[in-house]
Amino acid sequence: MNNWQAEVDVLVAGAGACGLIAALRAAEQGASVAVLEKLDRFAGNTTLSCGSIPAAGTRLQREAGIQDSANTMIADMERVAGEHEAPHLTRMLATRSGEVVDWLNQYCEVQMKLYTNYKHVGHTIPRLHTQPTGRGIELVEALARAAQRDGIEVVFSNPISRLIADEHGAVIGAEVSSGKQRYSIRAKKTILATNGYGANAAMLREFCPEIADAQYFGATGSEGEAIEWGRQLGAKLGNIGAYQSHASVAYPHGELLTWSAAEKGAFYVNRSGRRFGNENLGYSGFGALVMAQGNVAYAIYDSRIRDYVAHYQDTYRVLVEQGGAKEAATVEELAALHGIDAEALRETIERYNAAARGEQADEFGRSAFGMAPLQAPFVVTRVNAGLFHTQGGLMVDAQGRVLREDGHAIGNLFAGGGAAAGVSGRAGGAGYVSGNGLLAAAVLGYVAGETAGREIART
Ligand SMILES: Cc1cc2nc3c(=O)[nH]c(=O)nc-3n(C[C@H](O)[C@H](O)[C@H](O)COP(=O)(O)OP(=O)(O)OC[C@H]3O[C@@H](n4cnc5c(N)ncnc54)[C@H](O)[C@@H]3O)c2cc1C
Repeated sequence: MNNWQAEVDVLVAGAGACGLIAALRAAEQGASVAVLEKLDRFAGNTTLSCGSIPAAGTRLQREAGIQDSANTMIADMERVAGEHEAPHLTRMLATRSGEVVDWLNQYCEVQMKLYTNYKHVGHTIPRLHTQPTGRGIELVEALARAAQRDGIEVVFSNPISRLIADEHGAVIGAEVSSGKQRYSIRAKKTILATNGYGANAAMLREFCPEIADAQYFGATGSEGEAIEWGRQLGAKLGNIGAYQSHASVAYPHGELLTWSAAEKGAFYVNRSGRRFGNENLGYSGFGALVMAQGNVAYAIYDSRIRDYVAHYQDTYRVLVEQGGAKEAATVEELAALHGIDAEALRETIERYNAAARGEQADEFGRSAFGMAPLQAPFVVTRVNAGLFHTQGGLMVDAQGRVLREDGHAIGNLFAGGGAAAGVSGRAGGAGYVSGNGLLAAAVLGYVAGETAGREIART
């Protein structure tokens, strides 16, 4: 017999985008909801992110005259991710993305803008929606305000330590730690929104050893508990070796040199002044290539690209202000800024510019060159690659129900965001399409909260 100290309709583990959205949607269906958060404040991956959520068929797209459809978005995601274990989630996430972003905007009063001047990695149509400053903390703060408005309690420093199941394996509540105390909370439905396992070195070694030694730029709370709890209940894992890395974290600033610079014409060289891959691969797939150069690389671009990107992206503007984009009048001066081989860099720029002008094929197969050919004054940013978040987790159905190995749902248990199987390929970093992380957090949170709330309303 459990000694329950509290009772709620829907218990949500984790106060990131997924958890807060799940809570809001469940409460909208009439359920009583509590959100338990491990950390002492909002500090999950969503707060660190750029807050960009891809969505097809939104009001903002229509107002900007952009034609988009779920089918086009599905085709984009499938092309980059290749075959994987959760194609049903790709379809569901794309199909419901527009509805969810409109709901965030209207019901949750999240201020959003659509990037119309960038398509972003993997997308053939502008569909990345973000907050005015491009910082995910704004998304969390807006969701927190909506939760407060709707009477949803968010309890900090109260991590869930284990799930409690009945004799049939259905989840009926959870054990929570609060300082040295432990208590049990009974719930009709439990939603796991605890993100992935990027901060858990042992799990990284088990599931994606090739990135286990990379610098981790994600949140400390992503320790993979949901995967452990799911395993104990016989849950199936999906796409467990997939992750998002980023090839372009400015060194030593730690700010992102957004991939928009590459999209607009930047290329990357190693210390020898040589390129080592096709930048059109995108920031996640390119991450492994930077790692292979000893995790040191240099983005080479020019002042036009710097000024263009700085005009649209606050985070990059901060990097420029911090001196993270150094300008030089000549190739020799540019090379000298970081001790790059000047002669090799000159040859590299000439070959790259010739490809950008269409005079010869690019040596790495790059086909889109943005504003290139590059011209003086040139700009250089030193970067390294790192792990941002993992993309594998508990296999869920299209309503967010956690599935067992045999395909049946575990009673009353839902998962979303980084805790659930991602849609970024089966393994590795190359299948990540821009925004796949928050897409899964927002849309799976929404459908899990909706399903949990509706099932409770029916009983
Ligand atoms: C620098 C950076 C930039 C990024 N930019 C983007 C972007 O622009 N677009 C995009 O799509 N993705 C982006 N991502 C990825 C994105 O941040 C994540 O995919 C997304 O935020 C995951 O949301 P979530 O709600 O699942 O997890 P989180 O936001 O991490 O929330 C999970 C919460 O659960 C809590 N928790 C963990 N364990 C427990 C427990 N046992 N009990 C209770 N609570 C617990 C955590 O402390 C955390 O607060 C970025 C990531 C990084 C690092």
